[in-house]
Amino acid sequence: MNFIETRGNDGIRPYNVSFSQAILSPIASFGGLYVPLKLPDLGQVFLEKHLGSSYKTMAMDMLLCFGIDIDKDVLYEALDLYDKFDDKNNPVPVVKVKENLYVSELYHGPTRAFKDMALQPFGLVLSSIAQKQKQNYLILAATSGDTGPAALETFKNRENVQVACLYPDGGTSDVQRLQMVTEDASNLKVIGIKGDFDDAQNALKSLLDSDTFKAKLKEDNISLSAANSVNFGRIIFQIIYHIHSYLELVRQGEAKMGEKVYLNVPSGNFGNALGGYYAMKMGLPVEKIIIASNENNVLTRLINDGKYDLRDSSVVSTTSPAMDILKSSNVERILFDMFGAQRTKELMTHLQENNCYALNSEELYTLQSVFSADYCNGDEGKVYIKEAFENGYLMDPHTATCFKANDTCAKKGIKTIAYSTAEWTKFSPTIANALTGEVDTQDIDALQSISKEANVVIPDMISALFSKEVRQNIIIDKEDIEKEILSFV
Ligand SMILES: *Cc1c(COP(=O)(O)O)cnc(C)c1O
Repeated sequence: MNFIETRGNDGIRPYNVSFSQAILSPIASFGGLYVPLKLPDLGQVFLEKHLGSSYKTMAMDMLLCFGIDIDKDVLYEALDLYDKFDDKNNPVPVVKVKENLYVSELYHGPTRAFKDMALQPFGLVLSSIAQKQKQNYLILAATSGDTGPAALETFKNRENVQVACLYPDGGTSDVQRLQMVTEDASNLKVIGIKGDFDDAQNALKSLLDSDTFKAKLKEDNISLSAANSVNFGRIIFQIIYHIHSYLELVRQGEAKMGEKVYLNVPSGNFGNALGGYYAMKMGLPVEKIIIASNENNVLTRLINDGKYDLRDSSVVSTTSPAMDILKSSNVERILFDMFGAQRTKELMTHLQENNCYALNSEELYTLQSVFSADYCNGDEGKVYIKEAFENGYLMDPHTATCFKANDTCAKKGIKTIAYSTAEWTKFSPTIANALTGEVDTQDIDALQSISKEANVVIPDMISALFSKEVRQNIIIDKEDIEKEILSFV
């Protein structure tokens, strides 16, 4: 399987690349992204075949259908990492919450958020490619919370890979910060920045673009890479759980094989939703994909009005911070799939130059034939959290945005699979506030009060964080980042 470019080819880069190449250098001509030349057509035969399969067996078959240039042994080893999830036999439980609404829980991995679903296997695959090429990679990551811990966890002690992870000091939850600063592998470096997430992200971008920085790394035989969510090596593992979640409904006798369902996705950079879109194109019976956002509602506006407009927008901090994003990178792959490379380049250039673009009415019609969208503000989210809790389901604020979008977008009589992207332990102060009204609680207190209120156990990996030794205690000015990273490598 070859990969082509969303904005066409510049005559300098290869016209198409292999999966490994798309992983190692994810940025294509004109700043575009790599996409599969052709998606495998799985159809109902594949679904029937895997009704009785385990997650890993189905996943392996799907990966093989892609024909990627990764050894089978490596893929097996990568998928075995799902054995570390809470239930070895089912890493992604799907639970019925109420009539026609099911939640697919993507957070049962080591860092308790859905980033593990893709980053766990991705880390092993990337390290294996690096070893094969006898090349060392420095992975740079900037995080506002969930990507950092998941990236550190997956690359910890892996060969030929080092990770430098930047986070805004004071800009993450206690749990997220502790998950990072208590990591102690010698190939990991965690750096707190005096500034906000944008400062960390901008510092990362300028290092990724800096020829002098790359030249200095080359002297030590190190290449630069990123593990952000535009990497197709992450996307491919995000197609699998959509297929799995559908099969689970059929297995549980909740849906008939072939029955169309909604996929309802709390979205930021659109990797999760894109995985659902590809699954649909590969034959999964999907009625529509419902995109849930928070107050940073660019995606809602794009899908409802056809306009991607950042001119009067700036990121606002919300109670679902993993979705506090305005430039949602993976939307570009949808544009490419629907409207082709030439139009994608035109729209993305317009976005770069004017901070906006508009679809024509025909294009909007096409987009709306697949997607519906709504957003949920923090107060509404708390009401949904409380209501779900009173009906016996404990959920986090990201998941809550799906419940609102489901109320406004789903037609009666059609079942919905909503995706839960974080465990309650990761955003406990907001949940404690929703359940008991308590305000300004620290994570440690909020965890305990929810645990008592909901009669749930705090998982060991979370409670252990508070007594673990801090191994990474560097907090620096953004001007000093480059120096700090070079002294680490
Ligand atoms: C990353 C993340 C999201 C957004 O997922 P995308 O694939 O970027 O759209 C939603 N919720 C949580 C908890 C996340 O960590």
